Amino acid sequence: MKGTKLDRTQIYKEKKKIALFSVTVNATLALIKIIGGMISGSAALTADGIHSLSDLAASFSVLAGIIIANKKAKDFPMGLYKVENLVALISAFAIFFAGYEIARDVFFGEPMKITNLPVAVIAIGLTVVITFLYSRWEKKKAIELNSPSLMADAEHVKSDFFTALVVLVGVIGQYMGHPVIEKIAVAVVVYFIFHSGWEILVDAIKVLLDASVDHETLDEIRKILEKEDMIEKINDIRGRNAGSYKFIYLDIDVKTDSIKEAHAYVHQLEEKIKQAIPEVERVITHYE
Ligand SMILES: [Zn+2]
Repeated sequence: MKGTKLDRTQIYKEKKKIALFSVTVNATLALIKIIGGMISGSAALTADGIHSLSDLAASFSVLAGIIIANKKAKDFPMGLYKVENLVALISAFAIFFAGYEIARDVFFGEPMKITNLPVAVIAIGLTVVITFLYSRWEKKKAIELNSPSLMADAEHVKSDFFTALVVLVGVIGQYMGHPVIEKIAVAVVVYFIFHSGWEILVDAIKVLLDASVDHETLDEIRKILEKEDMIEKINDIRGRNAGSYKFIYLDIDVKTDSIKEAHAYVHQLEEKIKQAIPEVERVITHYE
């Protein structure tokens, strides 16, 4: 069993804190890159700034999702968990549009000239340091909270780190009179913009259509159940995502005929699973 023992309120607070931090980091990165790109005249850096804006949109939808998820409106008795995925779906299209705009400007628009190399280098240097530290911190948090979605985001931030290095090469190439190097750098950035847009889109659609939760989570639950002496037989383990939460459905045979005993046992089993995998919001068990 991975992860430290945190109770539900602590997990909620921790998730909100990470999401808020993520929004702040992406906003800072977008500002540094776009302002740096405009002052220095670097198309690659500006393009990367737009990429950070798309990351900002994604992290903002996660934050909004966490805040709204627990609010139960009268007409939405199952909670508003999927608002996050709906926001993500819309932002995916905004990201595709941004990627298209950058590609059009750089490949078919007026060529930009680097007028201030130090500003560009400083902006990229800051980006490299921030993304490096942030992806390490996020990875640590992902392990602590046993969260695959945080882990995926940490990997994404790591790719942002490498993108910044590509941009640096492009900027220097352009400055030394080889604009083609910058065009290649921009192409790499545009690829990553479309890639993250695509990831967000596919993820959102899957969740909205109630695709299964990841196999790692299902396997982890199976392992927990297999260690239980009270379980006679595991008939089914199923799950769906909503926002950044997981809902699990179990079908088990328990080794008791007393309904009261079975009920008490299942209740503590559900708590055990939620404790082991903090992203699990609810476990619903059918038992006989
Ligand atoms: Zn990114």
